[in-house]
Amino acid sequence: MKTKDIMARLQAKYPGESEYLQAVQEVLESIEEVYNQHPEFEKAKIVERMVEPDRIFSFRVTWVDDKGEVQTNTGYRIQFNSAIGPYKGGLRFHRAVTPSMLKFLGFEQTFKNALTTLPMGGAKGGSDFDPKGKTDEEIMRFCQAFMLELWQCIGPDQDIPAGDVGVGGREIGYLYGMYKKLAREYNTGVLTGKGATWGGSILRPEATGFGALYFTQNLLHHAGKDIKGCRVAISGFGNVAWGACTKALELGAKVVAISGPDGVCEIPDGITKEMIDYMLVMRASNRDRVEDMATRFPDKARFTAAKKAWSVKCDIALPCAFQNELSEDDAKELKENGCWCCCEVSNMGCQPGAIHFFQHNGILFAPGKAVNAGGVATSGLEMTQNAEHISWSGKEVDEKLHFIMNNIHEQCVKFGTQPDGSVDYVKGANIAGFMKVAQAMLEQGTI
Ligand code: GLU
Repeated sequence: MKTKDIMARLQAKYPGESEYLQAVQEVLESIEEVYNQHPEFEKAKIVERMVEPDRIFSFRVTWVDDKGEVQTNTGYRIQFNSAIGPYKGGLRFHRAVTPSMLKFLGFEQTFKNALTTLPMGGAKGGSDFDPKGKTDEEIMRFCQAFMLELWQCIGPDQDIPAGDVGVGGREIGYLYGMYKKLAREYNTGVLTGKGATWGGSILRPEATGFGALYFTQNLLHHAGKDIKGCRVAISGFGNVAWGACTKALELGAKVVAISGPDGVCEIPDGITKEMIDYMLVMRASNRDRVEDMATRFPDKARFTAAKKAWSVKCDIALPCAFQNELSEDDAKELKENGCWCCCEVSNMGCQPGAIHFFQHNGILFAPGKAVNAGGVATSGLEMTQNAEHISWSGKEVDEKLHFIMNNIHEQCVKFGTQPDGSVDYVKGANIAGFMKVAQAMLEQGTI
């Protein structure tokens, strides 16, 4: 297998699908050497099969807004790979959603889910619906209209969606309500991220952020460092950033910045519990403005418009917002600002130039598919609880999550340790995830 040849074919076939091509290129580059040591993979054309989704559903979603006007969006579900379990992955509601974006996310999800050690295949879905400025009633009507089509593609042993950007507990509630009505199935295991009183796992909302910090702790320990007292810059203020802030504070780190599409809030003395709680209010308002934090806490947070979290002096950077949010220039600025570690929490949050810069300038770096896998891992734990009709305590879920994140870190070290003793976490995560999926595909024959 030659990455160059496969990429040339995909570029010709899917011109303009830049996010998808970027994600495939990153994985293929890092697995090429190992892949070529396995002629059985080459014979079964594993890579050629793995880069194509199993199937893509696309549908029209029509709903009525509060003014009585008819609105039409496009919905998607991309079932990417089922080699190690039923399709599993989130739904993203964002104005920029395209098939390319969801293909990249579904592809990444396949390897991420493999890393969790739980039996879950990869999928992703969503819509170009923009939740910004929408009322609760509009969100509900959209979710119901979306499920009117989606329900036929999913099932607790078939495909299990969850949240992602723009889809949280409220949206999962509306989606599940409509699913029940249409399918006449009362199995809560069809969606994860549900409310805690009706099948949701305790700690699922916190899980992505908590897992990211457990991974970061592991990475720092491996490098002989400690997170206590470190200054942490975080982008975003949604669910993932909220969980990351909560755990960072608990572990004794100081969160000195959070950001939004409007700019950055610098918090010189570190974020407080009260401010973290306020992030939930900001998210529920659908205003999508981080400036609201500085308005609410003027003596603690200083807002600067059109600046990123990476402009603030820090030790550790945690991108928690959107793909490609951290450019090579941002990486250089971070280094100048004293940053020595970046753990990518958003999916593909760093541009290739930024990753290259980190890796060649002594900055510890780990990719999203390893760092943020705690979210989907806890979804897997939610599925287990649903299947057994039981509910575990927060302590039990947290212990299992912690164990899984330690295991993911170990897999990265196993497959990513370089001759000089350093760990290439990109390589480690990609090879570990890939080997598991490739082996399963091989054992299941040419399908
Ligand atoms: N959207 C999350 C992710 O990117 C969670 C998916 C899930 O829980 O199924 O992994």
